[in-house]
Amino acid sequence: MGIAAPNLILARGFVAPTIPVARPRLPDARAILPYLQEIDANHWYANHGLLWLRLQSRLATHWGLEPDGVALTANATLALALALRASGVTPGRKCLMPSWTFVAGAGAVREAGLVPHFADIDPATWALNPDALEARSDLREMGAILVVAPFGCPIDTARWDALSAQTGIPVIIGAAAAFDALRSGGPMALGNAPVIVSLHATKAFGIGEGGAVLSRNPAWLERLRRLSNFGFLGSREAVLAGTNAKMSEYAAAVGLATLDAWPETRATWQALTRHYAEALSGDRLLAPSPGFAEDWISATLSVTLPQDRPDAMAELAREGIGTLRWWGDGCHRQPAYADCPRDPLPVTESIASRAIGLPFWRDMTATQVDYICSVARRAAGQGTLALPPHLPSGTARALA
Ligand SMILES: *Cc1c(COP(=O)(O)O)cnc(C)c1O
Repeated sequence: MGIAAPNLILARGFVAPTIPVARPRLPDARAILPYLQEIDANHWYANHGLLWLRLQSRLATHWGLEPDGVALTANATLALALALRASGVTPGRKCLMPSWTFVAGAGAVREAGLVPHFADIDPATWALNPDALEARSDLREMGAILVVAPFGCPIDTARWDALSAQTGIPVIIGAAAAFDALRSGGPMALGNAPVIVSLHATKAFGIGEGGAVLSRNPAWLERLRRLSNFGFLGSREAVLAGTNAKMSEYAAAVGLATLDAWPETRATWQALTRHYAEALSGDRLLAPSPGFAEDWISATLSVTLPQDRPDAMAELAREGIGTLRWWGDGCHRQPAYADCPRDPLPVTESIASRAIGLPFWRDMTATQVDYICSVARRAAGQGTLALPPHLPSGTARALA
């Protein structure tokens, strides 16, 4: 095979990675069936049915909340937009948020009628820094603050509550990937600021499409529920100009089956996380995202290389290893948000240029993890890469 051939094939996009970056696995049909049969018997398919209600209260218990402390939604992006609206932020105002997040956050801010203002993140946490925010002279311009718990890493909610109380600015916490950190007794406690979790298939607790809003404020949560249901609650009077962001009974059925299997699911994520952490421990070239392998799990692994290595992903792809830059170059580099106001973003730009998502899914083998780490280490450490003789091309295919 000629040296140029793999490049050519890659350039045309024909090579599918043998070890994909993600391979979600939700409960299988057998586990969901009893719940589907309940739906058949109930003849209730949407609009706050019995399964929806049960999932909501079981999740509330899981997170250590009162049964009505959770509102389920169709997805997290809509929930973020509705959370901003439920907080009464005047449309047209700015929402301070990190650029270093999934683009859904910026979309939700726009959907709520607000203008994203991108702030830089703390290099140690990959999240907004409350001390830096507190010192800003332009806080009066901010109608809201959207804080993101990056890749499921817990954030200090009490600190953000203090900042919100002191400034009067509503804080919303986007914790899309932090399902596990929020567990009862877990490392991230729900404070006054509402928290939004995603139940998307790519998250650790995936049900396909779904979102959950956690709040200790019943009046606020009631507003959010109304906004997600045409403005109705208990009657057909539209008190608020709402939309439809309800979760269907079918999604709730998957959610209940996912919750039944959660202890086992979590244990397999944890074993994978530990194995990666061991394989990467003491590595000078590959640094996992903040908090990785601490007291929580999530369904992605992003590592940073010491320097921008534009060809590292191609090198991994040549070895059959799928990668993804989960948050790309940051929201401010997306065409739709390029004109949004922002601060200088040196930390975001540095991390974005060096972060690569590695394959991370429940059924991976230890051998695959070791192989990925060795190839990634090589890709991180070198400019143009040649294969060492002990890792022949196509090894990933043999391992898959
Ligand atoms: C997954 C994710 C979202 C989107 O959640 P959906 O439920 O797919 O709408 C938003 N922000 C972040 C940071 C995410 O990880």
